[in-house]
Amino acid sequence: MEDSFLRFLRDKTPRISCSFFISPEDNSGCKSKLFRIFVDSILPRQLTHHSNNQIFNTTPTDMNYDVIVIGSGPGGYVAAIKSAQLGMKTAVVERENLGGICLNWGCIPTKALLKSAQVYNYINHAATYGVSAQPAEADLAAMVARSRGVAETMSKGVQFLLKKNNVDVISGTGKVLPGKKVEVTNAEGVATVYEANHIIIATGARSRNLPNLPQDGKKIIGYRQAMTLPEKPNTMVVVGSGAIGSEFAFFYQSIGVQVTLVEFMPNVVPNEDEDVSAQISRSFRKMGMKVMTSASVEKVDIDGDICHVTIQSKKGTEVVDADIVLSAVGVVTNLEGIGLEEVGITTERTKIVVDDYYRTNVEGYYAIGDVVHGPALAHVASAEALVCVEKIAGLDPQPVNYSNIPGCTYTTPEVASVGMSEKKAREAGYEVLVGKFPFTASGKATAAGNRDGFIKMVIDAKTDQILGAHFCGDNVTEMISGIVAARQNGLTAKQVASAIHPHPTMSESIMEAIEQAYGKAVHL
Ligand SMILES: Cc1cc2nc3c(=O)[nH]c(=O)nc-3n(C[C@H](O)[C@H](O)[C@H](O)COP(=O)(O)OP(=O)(O)OC[C@H]3O[C@@H](n4cnc5c(N)ncnc54)[C@H](O)[C@@H]3O)c2cc1C
Repeated sequence: MEDSFLRFLRDKTPRISCSFFISPEDNSGCKSKLFRIFVDSILPRQLTHHSNNQIFNTTPTDMNYDVIVIGSGPGGYVAAIKSAQLGMKTAVVERENLGGICLNWGCIPTKALLKSAQVYNYINHAATYGVSAQPAEADLAAMVARSRGVAETMSKGVQFLLKKNNVDVISGTGKVLPGKKVEVTNAEGVATVYEANHIIIATGARSRNLPNLPQDGKKIIGYRQAMTLPEKPNTMVVVGSGAIGSEFAFFYQSIGVQVTLVEFMPNVVPNEDEDVSAQISRSFRKMGMKVMTSASVEKVDIDGDICHVTIQSKKGTEVVDADIVLSAVGVVTNLEGIGLEEVGITTERTKIVVDDYYRTNVEGYYAIGDVVHGPALAHVASAEALVCVEKIAGLDPQPVNYSNIPGCTYTTPEVASVGMSEKKAREAGYEVLVGKFPFTASGKATAAGNRDGFIKMVIDAKTDQILGAHFCGDNVTEMISGIVAARQNGLTAKQVASAIHPHPTMSESIMEAIEQAYGKAVHL
């Protein structure tokens, strides 16, 4: 009845916008919808917020919102768009580029650089494929330019989506104030205060600066500078072999830089299954990279253009000289100066404390993404955003299942995993079955000339439950979602293997690995 009334108004009365929002206090949305129709009908059209994708004003039209999101990364922009789609009047505050670290300085530009490295490698190995080609030259400046262009394209895509969904973009640095207010200071230093029923903090993280690795942005650098180096160094020390460190180490070694990778833990990519770490270590060494594990950087002495890096390992103390030192020892949250103390929002170990729906201890204030506990990954931030906003809108979202989060590293070979490693599953007391299928036995991998790596499945012997999946090889980051979906929906390993997998594909190796766990593999 009410919807047909809205349709009637929209169709018959073009000057009246039928945009609406569902007030959280009034989940029926009835009063709010009618109020919005009334407001929209009496205000000039350019001053209204529409959900019919016709008009967008980047300049906020008033100071009151249902939802204000601070930060426009994959947490913030997804929250803002979903919020608007659910009919709430929404603004997002951003001090830098739309899309956050992920689109501008993280996930996307790194993958663009890695693609350049892949093309370079393919050309230099063209003869293997029966193609004659001149040896390729790695033009780092051109690679960086392409990567920045890709980042810009993606950031513009977010701008388009925000506009399409009538989200107001407020440029400036946001800070929460008591009484559900947000103060935004723009580039000219002018502060404006906005009000919202719900304020979502999604301010993300930045490169961690360690005292023995003080980043100067020139010789000791973080990931931003690593993405935009003006010229190719001859030598580089990369400290930290998590996903970020490993991707940069791989990229620079690929294009001809002599890289030394230093990892504090006993294995590279230390969060991965030990077999995956061993494979990555082998592949890196095969490329000529120097890999040092159980090693730590004590200090860096800069002498003119050279960094003398003192590294302590089981073998003793060693000094490695390098043109550049990349510190990739993790990230630290952007929580300073954003008003948490003034509002009384609780933090713990540099993260904001939230419940299953990302509500902080102060009513009306929420936090998502890298600023809360959990894996610092883009897809996690986005999943949290959806749960947070749907709850605000009065829906009944399922909390994020943190035991089923995939993680990927885009080196060659790639790494993709979900769930427990074999070691963790055994430590947790499971009777474990392991199935492994090497890509040396895969037709697709052999045809592609990329036979490094394997599929490893960790299975509960009692229940056939998939406890973990650990993939290492060509294109495996595209394959892990199948296992994530299977686990999310309670499919067992045998049920996954019973599905016919197309041939020849890398993914048929999943089926083979499960069969191998039960001693039934045909192709081994
Ligand atoms: C080099 C690198 C590679 C990565 N690769 C991957 C990958 O392949 N896959 C993956 O899943 N994850 C990857 N990540 C991690 C991923 O980028 C982050 O987990 C993700 O961006 C977090 O999203 P977020 O929304 O929490 O915050 P962010 O993306 O950090 O966005 C926060 C935004 O808030 C803004 N901001 C901060 N403070 C304020 C303020 N006071 N006022 C206004 N705006 C503010 C910032 O400018 C920023 O735009 C990578 C990270 C890095 C550094």
